[in-house]
This record gives sequence, structure tokens and C-alpha cells, in this order.
Amino acid sequence: MIRSEIISYLSGVDDEKLFATAAAVKSHEVGNKVYLRGLIELSNRCRKNCYYCGIRAGNANTERYMLDESQVIAAATYAYRSGYGSVVLQAGEQQSQAFIDYVADLIGKIKALSNGKLGITISLGEQTEETYRRWFEAGAHRYLLRIESSNEAIYTRIHPADHLYGERLECLEKLRRTGYQLGTGVMIGIPGQTVEDLADDLLFLQKMDIDMCGMGPYIEHPDAPLGASDFTREERYRLALRMIALLRILMPNINIASTTALHALQPQGREAGVAAGANIIMPNITPADLRVNYKLYDNKPMSDIDLSGFDVALGEWGDSKHFTEK
Ligand code: SAH
Ligand code: SF4
Repeated sequence: MIRSEIISYLSGVDDEKLFATAAAVKSHEVGNKVYLRGLIELSNRCRKNCYYCGIRAGNANTERYMLDESQVIAAATYAYRSGYGSVVLQAGEQQSQAFIDYVADLIGKIKALSNGKLGITISLGEQTEETYRRWFEAGAHRYLLRIESSNEAIYTRIHPADHLYGERLECLEKLRRTGYQLGTGVMIGIPGQTVEDLADDLLFLQKMDIDMCGMGPYIEHPDAPLGASDFTREERYRLALRMIALLRILMPNINIASTTALHALQPQGREAGVAAGANIIMPNITPADLRVNYKLYDNKPMSDIDLSGFDVALGEWGDSKHFTEK
């Protein structure tokens, strides 16, 4: 699909055709099962100050926490017993040696408790190649690091001056070299971002030859300075669904997540994301009393997910076919 076609689909020229095509591609290439990744929000401590994010270091209005080992093990055991394919360990960016050691240790323990059966995805920000390798060798095999926007000017505008676009790209290359299944994605509806930018984001993801994607609407947070999107919430929701459908057509056999942020905009958002072409959902399995502190954006859903509407694959890793068939 060429850029101008992507732009017209993003503008809503023919949603019916777009979603029908994406559904057919998905069913043919990866099937209609949904794979579960239990999301463990390990810590909301963060060294960075991304202008959009509610747990940025500069936000004094949030109480900081770090899950202890027993809490992580309890959550992972729950995921394993429930037949989830994987867990995702996500946190604010931290680079202390103690944190690096702690994560490596947790990865090993999650492997052990599931006899190696639980897949482990991590999303822990920018790190040295040595750290990425350490966690890979400990047993993590997928990594999520969003580019946020592939447009360098937008990236630069939504981050402080020392958060460099080039370093983000370099991290993605380090992750690929290390051997991870590579996941990235963008926010949809960043102030100043246009449908042309979003079309370029899709082409960027394709050119990067990623294995997995998580992308979702930008949602304002009252304690973050970035401010209001140019798109209404309804428009961002529609755009996010179109982005998922277009990416499914552009990259037929990758894993695409239907993200929590979609659900934050519409109660049926996650189901709609799956119908549009996503094949991954990430139920939050963070201890309920701490979830309130991991607010990346306003109105983040705190409740457990209802899986009854999905054809869930139990006890399968659900690796990205794009990666395994390489
Ligand atoms: N610190 C790690 C992981 C946690 S943040 C990292 O930055 O990679 C995970 C993702 O949350 C970010 O990549 C960003 O895309 C998303 N996020 C943060 N603030 C958001 C907001 N206001 N609206 C929508 N998504 C947001
Ligand atoms: Fe930290 Fe990630 Fe939020 Fe940036 S997006 S402030 S790195 S948690």
C-alpha cells in the first residue's frame, strides 16, 4: 500500500473495506486466536521526564513503589496457572546496578516457576547493550520500546532535550542485535501530529521490520505538561483502530497488541482492537492496590479484563510468526 492510500484510509475514506481486509489478512496469516500477556507493572520509579507521561520523574503527585519479589512471583504464578502465554515486566526507566540485578533475578525465577513455559517480555526503557544482553541471557526474549513518534521533530518536541531520538533508534538496533523479538509502537493523537505523520509511522514500522507492535491513543494526564491533542477522544479512538488495521495489512504476520489506552477511551476498545486486526491482549495482573500509582495517563482502567468475548489461546507462547519464520 502506498503512502497516499494509507493517508486516505486513515482519514476514514472506507472503514468498511479497511476493516474487512484487515480481518481477512489476520485470519489467513495468524489466525483468530488472542494471546494473553499478563502485565506486571514492576515499578513507577523513572529517571526520565517525557512530557506526556504521568509517572515522569518530575511528577511529585504520585507515590512511588517497586514490587517486591514475592509480589512479582505471585502475579507470574497467577498468569502461569491461568494459562497465559507470557508475562510482561514493565516499569519506568531505571539503570542502577541494583535494579539490573533485581530484574535479571526475577526473570530467572519466573522461568523457574513455570518450567520455562511462561514467555517473558520486558519493557524497561533505554539501557546499555550489556544490560539488554544480561536480561536476554537470563531468559527474557521479547522487548517493547516504543519510538513514540517516528518523526524526529515530534519526538524532540515531546521530550526534554537530553532524551534523544537517535539514542532511541540505537536502542532498538541493540535489542535486535541481542536477539530479542523486537516490539515498538507509537502514540496516536500527539499534539501537532497529523494523519500524514501517522502514515509515516506505519511505513517506519514496516521498514524497521519489527516483530511486535503496541500502539494506542495519546491520552492527556493532568500532571504532565504536553497538553491537549488536536483530535477528540472519539477521533483518536477511530484513528487507533485504523492504525491497527493498516499495520495488519502492511505487516501480516506480526503480533499486534490491543492496548489498554484504547480501552481507556471506549469500554469495548480492546475488543474493537482485536476485531480491527490485533491478536494480543495484556490483562493487568499488577497487585490491585498498587495499580493506582501506575497512571501513565488519565482515566487508566483499573479493573480486571473480561475475557469472555475472545477466542483465547491458553498455554501457548504465541510468538511473533514474523520472528519465528525468519
Ligand atoms: N518506561 C518504559 C515503559 C513504561 S512507559 C518506556 O518508556 O518505554 C510505556 C508506554 O506508555 C510509553 O512508551 C508510552 O507510549 C505510553 N504512554 C506514556 N504516557 C502516555 C499517555 N499520556 N498517553 C498514552 N500513552 C502513554
Ligand atoms: Fe518514564 Fe517511560 Fe513515562 Fe518516559 S514514558 S517518563 S521513560 S515511564
